Amino acid sequence: MVHMDIEPNDAHKALAKLEECHKLSAVITQNIDGLHQKAGSVSVLELHGNVSRNYCMDCHNSYDIEFMMSSSDVPTCTECGGVTKPDVVLYEEDLDEEVLNKSVEAVSSADLLIVGGTSLNIYPAAGLIHYFKGKAIVLINKGGETPYDDMSDIVIRDSIGHVLSEVMWLYETGANNRARFVLGTIGRKPLVCFGGVNPSTAAPGELDPTLKAVERFAKENGFDSYIMLNLYPQRSTNPNGLHKRINLAYHKENLKIIEEILSRENVTVWAAWGGTLIEKRPYLKRCLVDILKLENARDCKWVSIGAISKKGHPHHPLYLRTVTPMDAFDIDEYSL
Ligand SMILES: [Zn+2]
Repeated sequence: MVHMDIEPNDAHKALAKLEECHKLSAVITQNIDGLHQKAGSVSVLELHGNVSRNYCMDCHNSYDIEFMMSSSDVPTCTECGGVTKPDVVLYEEDLDEEVLNKSVEAVSSADLLIVGGTSLNIYPAAGLIHYFKGKAIVLINKGGETPYDDMSDIVIRDSIGHVLSEVMWLYETGANNRARFVLGTIGRKPLVCFGGVNPSTAAPGELDPTLKAVERFAKENGFDSYIMLNLYPQRSTNPNGLHKRINLAYHKENLKIIEEILSRENVTVWAAWGGTLIEKRPYLKRCLVDILKLENARDCKWVSIGAISKKGHPHHPLYLRTVTPMDAFDIDEYSL
């Protein structure tokens, strides 16, 4: 039976986002539920068709799923009275040759092939893997072994939704989790937030109030992702626990990651370190001075949200009204 109210899951959403970021060229699926398109995927090759497309077997007039569902009997064509059926491959029928050819082309021209959520027992879909000529095959399957485990470069025994939503995060921490260099999501238009100087224990999927606020402001202002950076990466939820003297290894690693993020295209940087924290240790201002010396740092679009303090410091992401406008922040004028 066809259920129209099924929503895309984490796997569908992650694949749609990867395509949007130009990291994914096509999805080849044996599913007929149309959920990849519902999640936003454009390049979808449906080996077995799609139940949301239906047509008259006589005059080929097409019908949507609502039409099919509204009929209590076998749905018939309003034009010619012929029998209408879903555009799916039934067991005794052959696969659509055009879709199959496009699938072979997509597999044979790919650098990376991710095979997920299938036990690879259904032919000819499973046979497509033999057309791969690229660098690596990643097999993600929660079930047991598949006939293709040996052919794969990486085998992950986990659900595809879980694995793909993990790779949609940017997350770098130091040894023993004592530092956090970056935490964010992958997208084409990120809001990059320079947050407080004492990163919390937040992690992908386990956001703290500061990161939840960053996520919300990014969404409200039309960004598709957010990236949290820090002036100093030491994890210390208590500001008094901050190193008395700078750890230069942390600082250098932090600069390297910040430089990589800021050199991306169309970066908007939200100055959000707050006034109290940056005054906490003298070296924190020097960290910012070094960050601003990085290539591209001053060329990014800088913004602030909320009132600037008397000393000119930008507001922290917390304790802001729900709808607070984003203002241009003059990083060159900001005096340390
Ligand atoms: Zn008809």
